[in-house]
Amino acid sequence: MGKYELLRARLSHDLPDIDLHLAEPASDGELALVHDPRYIAAIEEGTLSPQAQREIGFPWNEGMVARARRSCGATIQAARTAFTEGVSGNLAGGTHHAYRDKGGGFCVFNDAAVTSRLMQAEWARQHAQPLQVAIIDLDVHQGNGTAHIFARDPSVFTLSLHGEKNFPFRKEAGDLDVPLPDGCGDDAYLEALEQALDTLVQRFDPGMVIYLAGADPYEGDRLGRLKLSFDGLEARDRRVFDWAFQRRLPLAFAMAGGYGVRIEETVQVQVNTFTVAREYWRRWQNRA
Ligand SMILES: [Zn+2]
Repeated sequence: MGKYELLRARLSHDLPDIDLHLAEPASDGELALVHDPRYIAAIEEGTLSPQAQREIGFPWNEGMVARARRSCGATIQAARTAFTEGVSGNLAGGTHHAYRDKGGGFCVFNDAAVTSRLMQAEWARQHAQPLQVAIIDLDVHQGNGTAHIFARDPSVFTLSLHGEKNFPFRKEAGDLDVPLPDGCGDDAYLEALEQALDTLVQRFDPGMVIYLAGADPYEGDRLGRLKLSFDGLEARDRRVFDWAFQRRLPLAFAMAGGYGVRIEETVQVQVNTFTVAREYWRRWQNRA
């Protein structure tokens, strides 16, 4: 939990020209675009079974509910802002292990899924063509909840690069899953990313991108089991931002996981993501 506060402090100090806004909580109606109303009510009221609460991984309290709603709301706001600014991010979010009717792995509501559906609904009010969303999930763990939610929805493409032997041990089938071996380093990872982005555009025509910039592929992560360096992760971010910018696709990003042996290093990976994001935000403002 400490990383969230540290990240905000670092961004205020290191990148003072970034506009920081307090996230609005996602409403029941927004959450219900993805989640079962009975699950939303059980979270709100704290009436999940002990087993279901254990799956989420932290105890119920009102602060947890408020945090889950705002974490989802921040990705919604980032996506809306991306349509006007090109690039915008959530200092939390990326809760990709949440399913329609259950949480898991520190995830309560699936922010990328809720945001995809909401952006599609808002887009449909003004445009004849539907909005197609690409979710690029580079957290080290598979985005199982996201894959399951959109399994039968051809309007959202779910790409996940993840550790093959890592949590969740029962993977869901996404649109494109790239399992990586333990110890995978920068070069192999970046090559796999390149191929995955090529495959994505062969199979799908996105109108926006939601990017889960997990910090847990970092070599100093307690749970990640991959071996990406600071430079490798920055190259990863740059590739995704550049890929979206070249196609003029609005990009909203969220932090997802990061469990550094040294928490300052997890936060450094995230600060680097925001530094690259700021560069691409500038390019959006100066684009021809
Ligand atoms: Zn993760």
